[in-house]
Amino acid sequence: QNTVHIIGAGLAGSEAAWQAANAGARVILHEMRPVAATEAHATGNFAEMVCSNSFRSDDAETNAVGVLHEEMRRAGSLIMREADANKVPAGGALAVDRENFALGVTRAVENHPNIEIRREIIEALPPEEWDNVIIATGPLTAPPLAEAIRALSGEESLAFFDAIAPIIYKESINFDVAWFQSRYDKKGPGGDGADYINCPMDEAQYTAFIDALINGEKTEFKEWEKSTPYFEGCLPIEVMAERGPETLRFGPMKPVGLTNPHTGIKAHAIVQLRQDNALGTLYNMVGFQTKLKYGVQKDVFRMIPGLENAEFARLGGIHRNTFLNSPKLLDGRLRMNARPALRFAGQITGVEGYLESAAIGLLAGRFAAGDALNREVSPPPATTALGALLGHITGGHIADGAGKAFQPMNVNFGLFPEISTPRVDADGKRIKGKERGFARKRALSARALSDINDWVKEQPLVSV
Ligand code: FAD
Repeated sequence: QNTVHIIGAGLAGSEAAWQAANAGARVILHEMRPVAATEAHATGNFAEMVCSNSFRSDDAETNAVGVLHEEMRRAGSLIMREADANKVPAGGALAVDRENFALGVTRAVENHPNIEIRREIIEALPPEEWDNVIIATGPLTAPPLAEAIRALSGEESLAFFDAIAPIIYKESINFDVAWFQSRYDKKGPGGDGADYINCPMDEAQYTAFIDALINGEKTEFKEWEKSTPYFEGCLPIEVMAERGPETLRFGPMKPVGLTNPHTGIKAHAIVQLRQDNALGTLYNMVGFQTKLKYGVQKDVFRMIPGLENAEFARLGGIHRNTFLNSPKLLDGRLRMNARPALRFAGQITGVEGYLESAAIGLLAGRFAAGDALNREVSPPPATTALGALLGHITGGHIADGAGKAFQPMNVNFGLFPEISTPRVDADGKRIKGKERGFARKRALSARALSDINDWVKEQPLVSV
């Protein structure tokens, strides 16, 4: 078990390699790009972000995503190190220049003395001699390997659809109509509260836009794809529009917290775009993942005021996602019950998103290093974001019937064990609902960060 073989150098595999190698284990990292391609990756870089460039909220005081950021930083995460080093303005979110981020990760992994890189595709289950393996091949796992894993698991892998949003060149946006502002002028670190580009719509424009979305020609599903449901967290814009004329106005197009400096008129709906590269030349349409046909996308999105002449650096699209029924198939240290030499990490374990995938990579890397070096590595406490995510996918909290209704999940406070907060303040006054909700989030965050410190100290593994 001395050598850890990691298949896939995405968000999870790169982090796993870094963690295992820093712990002193020898790592061989097998990545198929650029020898073989996926439907979504465009480069041969490790940890390529295929859609949005955001790691979401960086608020470690009241947001579970921000707490996970901070826990990973404290655990010596490479993904977080490079995200912090390559961030672009995005209000309270941690968004990055995707190219430089991926290059930073690639260089760090390539230069690590304990990591050997093999650019090759693994087409079948690993040979028996590889007795300490992490499979981190992601939502677009190459089909022959996906089929071998499915056969070994003895059941159908679950599948659903995800969609990606278009990216627009800033220079093609009409700033006589559009303007820069973050919702409620929220300032990110070093930002000025003006990180997003806003495009306003009046009621007539909104109605016409919704009609165009609903009636625009969509990419057709193949017969076998028709029974595959959407993942609720990433619905195509036109599917949301079909749910009712007001759905988008209460979702990604809500007009609140923004003031039009050109007219002063309150918009009926607003489309927001977020910076996508360090230079600030590219902006992605927030929440506009779509399966409209390419030609239709251009026509429909140019109906948005300010985007009349928009030029697209990338159009939206749709892809299939595969994940294991992890609570049933994996043990508490991410090993496959049917073949414990195989450990899984990343999106294939049923977490959702870049950050969560990297987080599971971090844990898998540490567990695998523990096996390689014959050291006990305990899982992080359930009160931490890392522990809560691990609990969700390995089903430690579920008794009988584990895994029956397993669905991929972003990190959120719903996965954390409850905490009690005072009902009255120091003056004996009742603390009201919203305030209490914030107090609860603050308490959950503080407990998580305190407990992760203990866990990191207990694991004398990482030597960065
Ligand atoms: P990946 O990052 O995909 O890495 C897997 C790696 O394994 C790849 O480098 C691949 O080349 C390699 N590989 C696959 N099969 C083999 C093989 N047989 N042999 C060798 N190497 C192999 N998440 C978000 O947070 N925000 C988004 O906006 C977002 N949009 C997405 C859009 C699309 C089109 C897709 C597919 C996913 C999106 N996701 C998004 C999810 C995102 O991909 C994952 O969260 C994240 O990249 C998963 O990390 P991972 O390491 O598990 O997989």
